Amino acid sequence: MRPDILFPLFQDITSISGVGSKYAKLLHNIEIDKVVDLLWHLPHSFLNRKLSPSLLAGKVGEIGTFEVTVVEHIPPKIKSKPYRVLCQDRYENQLVLCFFKTYGDFLSKQLPLDAKRFVSGKLEKFNNMWQINHPDYISANLNNIPEIEPVYGLTAGISNKFISSLIQNALSKLPFFPEWQNQQFIKQRNFPSFNQAMLAIHNPHTFADIQSSSTARDRLAYDELLANQLALAIVRQKIKKQAGRKIAGNGLLRRKILDTLPFQLTSAQEKVLKEIFADQASESRMLRLLQGDVGSGKTIVALLAMLNAVECGYQASIMAPTEILAKQHMETIAPLCENIGIRAELLTGRIKGKKRNQIINDLAEGKIDIIIGTHALFVEDVTFKDLACVIIDEQHRFGVHQRLNLSAKGNLADILVMTATPIPRSLILTAFGDMEYSKIDQLPAGRKPVDTRVMPLTKIDEIIPALKNKLDKGARAYWVCPLVEESEKIDLAAAEKRFELLQKVFGSKVGLIHGKMKEKQKDEIMEQFKSGSINLLVATTVIEVGVNVPEATIMIVEHAERFGLAQLHQLRGRVKRGIEAATCLLLYNYPTSQTAISRLQIMKETEDGFLIAEEDLKLRGGGEILGTKQSGFANFKLADMSLHQGLLLTACQEAKMIVAQDQNLSSERGQALRILLYLFERDDAVKTYLAG
Ligand code: ADP
Ligand code: MG
Repeated sequence: MRPDILFPLFQDITSISGVGSKYAKLLHNIEIDKVVDLLWHLPHSFLNRKLSPSLLAGKVGEIGTFEVTVVEHIPPKIKSKPYRVLCQDRYENQLVLCFFKTYGDFLSKQLPLDAKRFVSGKLEKFNNMWQINHPDYISANLNNIPEIEPVYGLTAGISNKFISSLIQNALSKLPFFPEWQNQQFIKQRNFPSFNQAMLAIHNPHTFADIQSSSTARDRLAYDELLANQLALAIVRQKIKKQAGRKIAGNGLLRRKILDTLPFQLTSAQEKVLKEIFADQASESRMLRLLQGDVGSGKTIVALLAMLNAVECGYQASIMAPTEILAKQHMETIAPLCENIGIRAELLTGRIKGKKRNQIINDLAEGKIDIIIGTHALFVEDVTFKDLACVIIDEQHRFGVHQRLNLSAKGNLADILVMTATPIPRSLILTAFGDMEYSKIDQLPAGRKPVDTRVMPLTKIDEIIPALKNKLDKGARAYWVCPLVEESEKIDLAAAEKRFELLQKVFGSKVGLIHGKMKEKQKDEIMEQFKSGSINLLVATTVIEVGVNVPEATIMIVEHAERFGLAQLHQLRGRVKRGIEAATCLLLYNYPTSQTAISRLQIMKETEDGFLIAEEDLKLRGGGEILGTKQSGFANFKLADMSLHQGLLLTACQEAKMIVAQDQNLSSERGQALRILLYLFERDDAVKTYLAG
């Protein structure tokens, strides 16, 4: 249960006075639903409202704050003209304050004749006079004008002043927290307390407070990173601590499989298998990440790991992120298993009724050796006779610590997480904690490089005939139109329009697949593309093209500038599976900034996924490396991977130390750390793994 101390912060946003359902809806657009979300809404920049000694020191076009005396009120002669108030500074430089649609008596109260006032706003020049339209502040007291004013991300209907006042309100609800960080570390880093840091960020007093490297900013980022690392460390420790079992089969099944394969394993595959077999043979539970580019041959590695468990008389499972991918694994694995007398079955949400019951029965009785399914497999009511090996194929979606929980199904099952996304080390840490990992850093021999070209969409009139030429000769191609969350409808419409246009040229050989379709429809389209009855597939999502169609050798990506490089790399990988040389066209919307175009050029220069991922991290920060939200990396509220990588490593070490010394978080600091975990909503780990 969430500690009581956090109660005020986790109340609904409507608990703040002045916020009703109308504002709550608007705030939801900027991800503010609870009081605490206001605290996380950090300013993106700051306005300098420091008092200028005179108007002469002001800069036209910039914010200025001046002390002036009111000289004259000049009401408009006609209604549509502004009401003007003439003022002057102490050197008699004149300033006109301009108001549209404002009543004179209101202004006479605010700006009585001869009164001294501090005014702040954007300084303009009009008719050779200094002028401020609708000053942001008018006050007799300079203290009412913040010297440094935070500027927040806004949404229509929410002004900066309004959100600032809400944030101030939220700040006033901050409870007194016990310190959850190591005292010595705090001292050494000169970190303020959490509350002081929050106040310094939202109410900065000095320009030092607002540096991206301020101690306040670092402190908050570190708190969040520690919460992240600690949650992962708790899960990891609980998994690892359960004594696993030694799994070391006699190798017979594996030998048979290798004999039937038409190829030799690459030395990279051999190397990772050695690492995996060693984990399996050890007494503690395996928890390993297997990274390998698309086409690097992870499936066979997974199968061999599973067979090791099967050789020992246990069951194994592989989970894929989508039905299509699960089916694809089934198609690869089932015939191989059949050859060697091993039973593999597919179980997804779409398998129902009798068939499903049969599979569930057989699984429970141990009549099925290998089960292949979606992640849903593990949430459902499925039991095993003795599950010893769980392979989680993440492709390019993550959310691992939830998944790790699910692996509780197999009491002592080894866990191997596979990903086709080259992930920089720092991001592995944020998503998986300090997890062992293996890399397949070599592709099977004979793969030809992809001919990658970057060009503006305006060239489409040349592209289409060239594409037609290739398709007529038997090629197959993907045409990807991205979906961006906020405007999904518009994007989908654009993709449909593209589909229609292509249909005019290519007729019935074009198919469309998108995320809004039913699984069954998607499967049908994919089948048609695989069989070749369609040869051009227009797709809106990255996920749906995660499918193996070796005959496809052309990848066209529209709006390539909207994708992360790592995503483009994934897409390009889809056409790299065959032996035929492949082509990848990255079409950017014209006009696009030069930086965006040169970013795309990196794709031309290299096919090394790890290099591309590092480049992406440098350019866009961690959250976006795999696209947006769904990536599982984008969930930091305060930490920023382009600024806080060093802190991440420290947090990782610290988290390890904490679980080693106080594994149930029961010490005084442990109790405070529980608050930290709840504060950053990393409480799954606490709920699942910690007592009391
Ligand atoms: P991944 O899952 O890593 O994207 P797959 O396991 O689907 O890659 O393998 C891609 C293709 O390469 C498959 O057709 C597979 O049979 C083939 N393959 C795997 N390992 C080798 C190898 N050592 N030599 C040649 N081909 C291989
Ligand atoms: Mg695969």
